Amino acid sequence: MRLPVCISLANLPTKIERLERISKELGGINLYIKRDDQTGSEIAGNKVRKLEFTVKEALDKGCDTLITCGGIQSNHARATAAVAARLGLKSFLVLRSDETPVLEGNYFLDKLLGAEVKLITSKDYATARNQIMKDLKESLEKAGHSPYIIPEGASNGIGNFGYFKAMEEIKRQEEEMGISFDGIVVSVGSGGTYGGLFLANKLYGYGKRIIGVNICDDADYFKDKISSILEESFQYIEETIDYRRDEIEIIEGYVGRGYALNNKKELDFIYKFSAMEGVILDPVYTGKAMYGLTEEIKKGNIKGIKNLLFIHTGGVFGLFPKKDLFGL
Ligand SMILES: *Cc1c(COP(=O)(O)O)cnc(C)c1O
Repeated sequence: MRLPVCISLANLPTKIERLERISKELGGINLYIKRDDQTGSEIAGNKVRKLEFTVKEALDKGCDTLITCGGIQSNHARATAAVAARLGLKSFLVLRSDETPVLEGNYFLDKLLGAEVKLITSKDYATARNQIMKDLKESLEKAGHSPYIIPEGASNGIGNFGYFKAMEEIKRQEEEMGISFDGIVVSVGSGGTYGGLFLANKLYGYGKRIIGVNICDDADYFKDKISSILEESFQYIEETIDYRRDEIEIIEGYVGRGYALNNKKELDFIYKFSAMEGVILDPVYTGKAMYGLTEEIKKGNIKGIKNLLFIHTGGVFGLFPKKDLFGL
């Protein structure tokens, strides 16, 4: 098998650390965390691993501009803006916002990194974001640029190889650490982090459980979405894997009030976790996923697992616009 080629952008490998006090509290499960929130500073988080592959494809096609989309506080959009600036490319971000956004968090960094931002309503985002990006691409082409569209979250066939490669990294770290993880847990927002881990796990026959916690939509939606990303990835490696849809293991029930919205339980959990472990989770993805995971462990719903690895996929900049909600 030949894997697609990538460029090097992230600080790798990211550390794996044991969460001492949470593990003790959970009793019986050793919980570890992989610090993909430390893949860089401007580029921090999981998206840069995917961008190592998607942007390589863009460069190979001779592109000079990256177009992508996301919510107003999108970590993916910010990472794309950072990567573009780092490589001397232009970036255009189509961001969802129903009101005039406050210049803070990731949105502020987008601007600081020189991105051009086009704001669209949540209705247009839901129904027409891909068309809007296409139209933007055409108008940029008419102006003499060569743009490349990266879909939401860089979750497509090529972006999937970011976490395919991360799975290889985890395998090497297991050998160095003399440990074997029975399961790997990630939050699921557009599916490409989960998809890459799932693909490598199957293709290499590692036999781990890959567990996602969805932070928008539901398990059914993501089983379809991840299946279709996998189909796209097969074309790149000219191979397929045998898997059943129910092996795509998604814990649902922790979306809370909705995407990027929080309730008091989640915020209290993030506070407790930060103070307890010295690790800061984000409110949109990792806070909800870690909350969901620990709740499920406490309920006895995670069976047959001794060593569990949670991937901290980043998102810290999204915490600052929410500082007043914590009541600290
Ligand atoms: C995008 C994102 C995720 C979700 O990853 P997907 O590949 O989109 O499912 C998780 N955590 C953070 C911080 C993110 O920005």
